[in-house]
Amino acid sequence: MRILGASAILLLVVSSQLALGQSTPSTLPPTSLLLRPAAVFDGETLHAGWVVLIENDKIKAVGPSAQLTAPAGARTLELPGLTLLPGLIEGHSHMLLHPYNETPWNDQVLLESSALRVARATAHARRTLEAGFTTARDLGSEGAGYADVGLKQAIDQGLIPGPRLLVATRALVATGSYGPKLSAEVDVPQGAQEADGVDGIIRAVREQIGKGADIIKVYADYRWGAGEPSRPTFSQEELTLIVQTARSTGRPVVAHASTPEGMRRAALAGVQTIEHGDAGTLEVFKLMKQRGVALCPTVAAGDAISQYRGWRKGQDPEPERLVQKRLSMKAAKQSGVELAIGGDVGVFTHGDNLREAEQLIQDFGLPTLQVLRGLTSTNARLFQLPDRGRIQPGLLADLIAVSGDPTQDIKALRQVRLVVKGGVIVKQ
Ligand SMILES: [Zn+2]
Repeated sequence: MRILGASAILLLVVSSQLALGQSTPSTLPPTSLLLRPAAVFDGETLHAGWVVLIENDKIKAVGPSAQLTAPAGARTLELPGLTLLPGLIEGHSHMLLHPYNETPWNDQVLLESSALRVARATAHARRTLEAGFTTARDLGSEGAGYADVGLKQAIDQGLIPGPRLLVATRALVATGSYGPKLSAEVDVPQGAQEADGVDGIIRAVREQIGKGADIIKVYADYRWGAGEPSRPTFSQEELTLIVQTARSTGRPVVAHASTPEGMRRAALAGVQTIEHGDAGTLEVFKLMKQRGVALCPTVAAGDAISQYRGWRKGQDPEPERLVQKRLSMKAAKQSGVELAIGGDVGVFTHGDNLREAEQLIQDFGLPTLQVLRGLTSTNARLFQLPDRGRIQPGLLADLIAVSGDPTQDIKALRQVRLVVKGGVIVKQ
């Protein structure tokens, strides 16, 4: 009722302004900006000599310079030597975490106040945007409740700079499977919401969605005790129910899973992506491909954690965990499963998001162009974001300009010279 009342008042205000002949937002002339880089990577292919015209918050036109005339009054921004491309999409972040070599995960969850964690997260959001990532899937607040929803609101309201966030809020774990774990007598706040069984799961999924979750994140396997390997957590029935409940509200489910059985159950349940997949086999990757489930391999997280535990990259032999990852990535490539690009940033430093893309190319032999498409058009398609990830008329004007040619050397993405989000220059 109150909402209806407010709209009615707004309508009255708008119509009285119209009656008085006052200018309303829709009658203002559009703001046009013409960008003239050396080349445009449109999410698929590099085009030398192309330009892009932005009108308000959208891309109005793109094409060869000679064929595109800017309207009278358009501003022109010369970007000599730069490549213009869609704003990058981070596939797996945790804005509310910071690197575990600064503070162990348990201590972040148990000892850091929400005020401290949120204050940090605002800095993380800014660094992410400045690194050229204009969208991020933020996959779990890790004990910070619904702080990610508030963070997203603050960004959307223009209070703080940051990427467009898709937030997972608390994430779901089977009772007893997650952490932190102290002694059996001490119940401590968990890094995610515990839920089990038909009633409990339906309720928890709906509760998270009602409080602002864009995505439901579920831990399909985890280590039940310290020092043991991961094993499945939720049953097939529970996972299927989670996906069905979320799907009827139009939201996808993503699953943390590293064991073949956890991955198999998640794939059969119909999740959108499986995160990590460290012990994935050819068989389970083939099942994922068949079911249209993508893999977000988060190679940078395992690499970072191994280094925190003392591995000297480039000097010591690879630890068992990374040897296993190499084998599973080989199987993933062989299976043809689609890859989302996301590094689990937060485990390592926010703003250093590119680490995932660089390692996929350098350490795992993925073609540069595949990874560049991954960061833009492929991530957008896999995450069902048809309004971004490409440079095409009608899409959001989320664009970045970098020095050099990222289709030849991904490290060009480290040289971000311009960030435009929703048609507004946020870094130059
Ligand atoms: Zn994660």
